[in-house]
Formats: sequence, structure tokens, C-alpha cells
Amino acid sequence: MKKKVSFAALFVCVLAVCALVLAGCGGGSSSDSTATDSASTDATATDQEATAATTGDYTLVEDGKLTCISNLYFPPFESMDDKSGEPVGYDIDMSKALAEHMGLEVNWLPSQAFDSLVPTIKTGGTADIAIAGMTITSARQEEVDMSDPYIDSNQSLVTKVGSKETMESLDDASKKVAVQAGTTGEEWVLENLTNATAVPLDDIISAMTGVQTGSYDALVTDLPVASYQIKNSFADLQIVESIPTGEQYGIAISKDNPALTAAINEALAEMKTDGTMDDIQVKWFGSKL
Ligand code: GLN
Repeated sequence: MKKKVSFAALFVCVLAVCALVLAGCGGGSSSDSTATDSASTDATATDQEATAATTGDYTLVEDGKLTCISNLYFPPFESMDDKSGEPVGYDIDMSKALAEHMGLEVNWLPSQAFDSLVPTIKTGGTADIAIAGMTITSARQEEVDMSDPYIDSNQSLVTKVGSKETMESLDDASKKVAVQAGTTGEEWVLENLTNATAVPLDDIISAMTGVQTGSYDALVTDLPVASYQIKNSFADLQIVESIPTGEQYGIAISKDNPALTAAINEALAEMKTDGTMDDIQVKWFGSKL
């Protein structure tokens, strides 16, 4: 009997020690309360992650500011307003809303070449995010973190109104097809119009002007940009074909700043549910996409 009691006591002691260890010295004394304690430990961890994401357990180039870079020649996603000289567009509104949801101010740096954006974010120290109508690709994801997608996109083939060029006729070495360097449009031309002469340019406005003046036979760019530009500024250009590439835009963030990626994704999720994203789509495209 005596022996039985001491064995039971030892067993209880072992249980109690396990409980303490499992509860992270949280002080549970029975297996029931251990379960409760570990559940609340989990909840605390989740809370801490959420708090870290929302209160800024991330680094910023400038305190209190979300510093953004882009190529500001990609309307309606980003361009320079002629009168104010300020950046305007879908992505600019997104950046402002993101900053607001994160309790930060937005800070836009001057435009830079599209193909320098990922390297700049990867190097760090200049900007916190690149938001640039940038398609999420596995090649980019090897260099930087890409946020969750915030809008869908496709490519388009654009020529001058009256041009008889087709996808087939353009696939010839004598034909110049303008693209923006380092973009998925350039990649598409290199893979699908293998015989054409792809001409990489700094921005898509130069490509459009070049097709307008006859320097290039066609251009390939993101469909929403082509549609918007033809409607608003380049009435003498036409979309010959939509190219269903099924792209999605995301925001580039340094891999050294994972808490910032988490915070951006959290803010994007909030913006989807609170209607901010819909408002921005209606503002720039006239309807929800
Ligand atoms: N969406 C395309 C890409 O990511 C083009 C982006 C751009 O030109 N700003 O390559």
C-alpha cells in the first residue's frame, strides 16, 4: 500500500513537471490545465505575430514612412502628374492605403528603370517596397519576397491603327517589336515571336510613341496599360490581340524583412475586406475588375 502511494505520488510529480515544461513554466498542475495553458500559449504566439506585423517589428528605411519605388511611366498604375509633379495612379493609391492601414506615411522616391527595381529592393537601404505593376514570377521570388497578389493582368499586342500586322506577320527578323526591358512582356516576345527583332526600351510610353511614329512595327505590354493608354492618350494605336498570360501583380519586399511582407499582406487582406481595393479599382478602371 505504502509502495503504491509513493508510486502514484511520483507519477503525479512527473506529470506536473511535464505540465510545467509544456506550459513553458506557465504553472499548470494537472493535464487538463496543461491543455488550456498550451492553448493560451499558442494564442499568445499568434497575437505576438499579429502585433509584430501591425506595430512594426520590421525595419523601415525611414522611421514612420513606407518608402516606395517604381518606374513612373506605366499609367494608370503609376505616372507623374504633369501639373503637380507628384506620382499618381493605381499603385500610388495602393501605397497610400497600405501606409494608412499600417499607421505609416507614404514616401515616394524618383522614378527608376523597371529592371533596376528588384535589384534595389534586394540590396536594401533605399526603399522598403517596389510597387510597379510587377508580375509575381518565380525568378523575382528568388531575389525578393513578393506580396500576395493584388490585381490580375494579361499581355497585349499593339500596332498603329490601319496597320495590317498580325502575330504571324510580326514573327519575322525584319519586324521590330518594342518592349519594356526586364518585363514579362519582353519575356513573352522572346519566347513567342522568336524570329522578330525585340527592341527593349526604358519605358512603355517610349514604345507607344515609337509605334505611333513608325520606328517600331508593334509593341507588347500589359493589357490594362495598353487599354488605358489607347483610350486616354494614344487614339491612333490599337490592340490587335489580347494575350492571356494570367499574370498577377505583387509588391516586392526584401527577403531580409519578412515581418514587412507579413504586414503588407495583412494590410492587403484588410483592404480587400474593407472595400479599399474595390474603391481603387473603380477609380482607375471604372468598375471592379
Ligand atoms: N507586369 C510587367 C512585369 O512585371 C510589366 C511591369 C511594368 O512595366 N511596370 O514585368
